[in-house]
Amino acid sequence: MKKFVYMFNEGNSSMKELLGGKGANLAEMTSIGLPVPFGFTISTESCNAYYDAGKEISPDVQEQILQALARLEQTTGKRLGEPSNPLLVSVRSGAVFSMPGMMDTILNLGMNDETVEGMAKLTKNPRFAYDSYRRFIQMFSDVVLDVDVFFFEQLLEEYREKHGYNSDPELTAEDWQEVIAGYKKIVKDRTRKEFPQEPKEQLFLAINSVFDSWNNQRAIVYRRLNKIPDHLGTAVNIQSMVFGNTGDESGTGVAFTRNPSTGENVLYGEYLINAQGEDVVAGIRTPQPIATLESEMPEVFQQFAETCHLLEQHYQDMQDIEFTVERGKLFILQTRTGKRTAQAAIRIAVEMVEEGIIDKKTALLRVDPEQLNQLLHRRIDESYPRNHLAKGLPASPGAATGAVVFDADEAEQLGNDGKRVILVRPETTPDDIHGIIAAQAVVTSRGGMTSHAAVVARGMGKACICGCEALKIDLKEKQFRIGDTVVNHGDVITIDGATGEIMLGEIPMIEPQLSEEFQLLLAWADEARKLGVRANADNPEDAQKAFEFGAGGIGLCRTEHMFMDAKRVPIVQKMILASNLEEREAALAELLPMQQGDFEGIFEAMQGFPVTIRLLDPPLHEFLPDKEELLVEVTKLQILDPSSAELVEKEQLLKKVRQLDEFNPMLGHRGCRLGMIHPEIYEMQAKAIFYAIAKLADKGLEVKPEIMIPLVGHVNELKEMRQLVIDAALQVQEETGKTFDYLIGTMIEIPRAALTADQIAEEADFFSFGTNDLTQTTFGYSRDDAERKFLQAYIENKVLPENPFAVLDQDGVGKLVETGVKLGRAKKPQLKTGICGEHGGEKSSIEFCYLTGLDYVSCSPYRVPLARLAAAQATIRHEAVERTLQPQI
Ligand code: ADP
Ligand code: MG
Ligand code: MG
Repeated sequence: MKKFVYMFNEGNSSMKELLGGKGANLAEMTSIGLPVPFGFTISTESCNAYYDAGKEISPDVQEQILQALARLEQTTGKRLGEPSNPLLVSVRSGAVFSMPGMMDTILNLGMNDETVEGMAKLTKNPRFAYDSYRRFIQMFSDVVLDVDVFFFEQLLEEYREKHGYNSDPELTAEDWQEVIAGYKKIVKDRTRKEFPQEPKEQLFLAINSVFDSWNNQRAIVYRRLNKIPDHLGTAVNIQSMVFGNTGDESGTGVAFTRNPSTGENVLYGEYLINAQGEDVVAGIRTPQPIATLESEMPEVFQQFAETCHLLEQHYQDMQDIEFTVERGKLFILQTRTGKRTAQAAIRIAVEMVEEGIIDKKTALLRVDPEQLNQLLHRRIDESYPRNHLAKGLPASPGAATGAVVFDADEAEQLGNDGKRVILVRPETTPDDIHGIIAAQAVVTSRGGMTSHAAVVARGMGKACICGCEALKIDLKEKQFRIGDTVVNHGDVITIDGATGEIMLGEIPMIEPQLSEEFQLLLAWADEARKLGVRANADNPEDAQKAFEFGAGGIGLCRTEHMFMDAKRVPIVQKMILASNLEEREAALAELLPMQQGDFEGIFEAMQGFPVTIRLLDPPLHEFLPDKEELLVEVTKLQILDPSSAELVEKEQLLKKVRQLDEFNPMLGHRGCRLGMIHPEIYEMQAKAIFYAIAKLADKGLEVKPEIMIPLVGHVNELKEMRQLVIDAALQVQEETGKTFDYLIGTMIEIPRAALTADQIAEEADFFSFGTNDLTQTTFGYSRDDAERKFLQAYIENKVLPENPFAVLDQDGVGKLVETGVKLGRAKKPQLKTGICGEHGGEKSSIEFCYLTGLDYVSCSPYRVPLARLAAAQATIRHEAVERTLQPQI
C-alpha cells in the first residue's frame, strides 16, 4: 500500500513536495530534537487523490490516518474524545510553498461537551477549558461548517455589553459556558444540525475542508499572483495542541531571526501573553515586541533565542518562527524561510557571507532580481516640509502617494483604472488581498509588524504601515480622524513605510541610490557573470543613470526620440513635408548639429563604453499631427476663416498626412525601408555620429560606435544601408582628417531575418535581437491592440502562460533567436550578439539569453542592477555550460 501519512519523526526538510513546507519543517525540527508537539502529516498526494476521487478521502488514506492517530495517542498518553484525559489537536494546512494566511487552520479539535469538562478538571482551570471550547466552536464552524464568524462575534459583543465587560479576559468560566450555549444555538440555526460532538467526525470533516481550502478564492488568487501551480495540492498536519492561553505564564508569538524589513541581525518579533494561535497575526490585540519577553520570562527567552540561532545555522537562512509558551515551557510550532524586503534580502545575504554561514554564490542566488525593483524606486524627499499626521509601525519600506480608500473592492476597481490609492483599514484579512495588490500602499490602525497586512505587503514590495493607533477609522462615514484632522475618502495622503509616517497631501520623491551592501553584492555578481549587461538609453541623462547603475554599454539608443523634442518637431516636419530633395536636405542640415550634440552627450556619459545607435525606425507620420484632429481644424477654418493662410497651410499638411497614412503602420514604411527610400535621412544620422566622434577625439575620448540598421528582412537591404554608412564615414573622414573604428550591424526583429541570418551575417558585424518587434511579428500581434483587447483574457484562460511582451516566449520567439545566433555564428564565428527588447531586463529571459550564447542583454537603466544579478544567477545555475564567447562588456 502506498504511504500517505507520515509521523513527524518519519520525515525531513527535503520532503517538502510530499509533506508541504510546514510538515517537512516540523519533521526536520522534530529530528534535530527541538520541542515540537508531536503529530503527523497527511501528504500532498492525498490531496490530489482526494480531488481525483471526486472530493472523497479514500479508505486507504482513512485507514492510515487512524493508525497515525493511534500512534499519536500512544506517544502523548492521551486519547481523542477521552473525557478524563483528552487529546486535542490542531489541523493545519501546509502547501509546498508557504502561502501566508491563505489556508485555514483549526485549533483545539477534539473538544466537545464532555472533554471540555475533563479539561477543566484536569487543568483545574475551567475558564481556560471553556475559552478553548468556544474558540474551537467558532473556528470549526467558520472553516468547516461555513457559518460566518460575524454571528459569533455579534453574540459575544452583545454579551460583553450586557455584562459590562470591556475585553475577553474579563469573562469567567460561567460566562463562557453561557456564550458556548449561544454559539451552539447559532450553529443549529444556521446549519440545521447540532454542532458535531464526535471527535473523529470532527477530524475528518476538518481534513476534508483543508483539502477544500486549496481551492478557495484567496488561495487561488495568491497562487496566480505568485505563479504557484494549481496541481501541487496541500498537505494536512495533525498536531497535538499546546496552550498559550492558560493564563499569564503562557503566551504565543512569532519571530524572525533577523529584521525582515532592514536585514539587521537582531531577533525581531512579537508575542501576546495568555493568547492562542492566530491572535498575534490577526491583529486583534496589538502585541508586545519580543525584546520585552527577555525581562518577563528570562529563561524562556534565553531558550528561544538559542533555538532561533540554532534554526538559522541549521537552515543557513533567516527563519520565521512560531512559538507558544505553555505554563513557562517553550514549544516551537513552525519554522520557514522568512519573507523579507529587498533591502533585507541583500543585507542578510551579504552579512551571512561575512559571518561564514554561506558562500558568495549562495548569496547571489538568495536575492530575487525581481525584488530589486523595490530599491530602485523613488523615496520621499527629506528636505521637503511635511504635514505630519501620525506615526505607525514601519511595516514595509517604500514611499507612496494616493487617495484614501477604505474598501478592498474599491481599491481594486480604482487601482485597475490606473488611479493611485492607499488602502486604509482597521486590519486586513486574506480576503482583502485583491485590494492590497491594486493599492499603492496599505495602512492599518491595528496589528503588529507580523500582521497579515505587513507580511503580504512586504512580500509584494509594497509600502505598509501597521498598528497606527492614532488613526480613528470610521468606515460608515468613510473617513478617519487623527486628533482634530479629518481625512475623507478620496483625500490624498503620502506614507513612508520605512519610518511609519503618514502625511497629508503629496510629497515629492527623490531618486534611489544603491546601498553599500547592494553595491558589494553587485560587484560579486559582476565577478560571477559571463553575460554582458547594457542599457537602453536615448539621451545623455539616461546614459548617465545607466552608467551609474553599472551598465557596460548602451545596447540600444533610439534616435527617433531625439526627433520628438518639441523644439525639433517643426524642423522634422519641414523635412517630411519637403516637396523636393533640396528642401529636405536643408531641413536635415538643420537637424544634423542637434543629433550630433545628442551623440556627443551620450558618448561622453558612457566614457568610451560601446554604444549601439539605431538609425531612424518609426514611420514618418508619427512626427505629424493626428489626422482626425487636423481634419477638425481644417473644417473649422473652412467655415470660420476660409481665406486664411493658416487654412492653406493646414490643408497642405492634411494632404501629406493622408499620403503617409497607412493601413498597418507596424508593417508599413518604417525601419530600414525609410532609409532605402529616403537615404538622405540615414546619411544625415550617420554623419552626425561620425562628426560627434571626430569632435570627441579632439578631447581625447575614443569612441567605437555600433551603428544599427533596424527592421532588416532581406540581406540586400542591409547591404545597401551598410554601404551608405561606410560612404558617410569616408566623407567625414575626408572632411575632418580623422579615421573611424566602428561596427555596422542590424536588429533582428523580422522572422525572415532570423531564418536567413547566415546571409545577413555576411553584411553584419553584430546582431541585436529586437525582441519587442520580434514578438509582434512572430505572433502576428500588434502589441497595443493585443494588450488592450485579448491578451489579458488569453493569460487568464491559460491560452498563453505569460504575457510574451514581458517574458520571452522561448518556444517560438526564442527559437528564432536561437536560429539567428546559430546561423549567424556559422557564417561569422566572431559575430557579436545581444538582445535589446524589454525582455533584456526580465530574469527568465536573461537566463534564456545566457543559455543561447548571447554576449549581452540590454534593458532600461533602472533594470540594469537586476539584470547584472540575474546574469550572475544564470551563470552560477548553469556552471557546466561552456561559453563559446567571452563577453566583451
Ligand atoms: P498559518 O499557516 O496560517 O500560519 P498555522 O497552521 O501555522 O497557520 O496555525 C495558525 C496558528 O495556530 C499559528 O499561530 C500556530 O502557531 C497556531 N497553532 C497551530 N498548531 C498549534 C498547536 N498544535 N498548538 C498550539 N498552537 C498551534
Ligand atoms: Mg503559521
Ligand atoms: Mg523594432
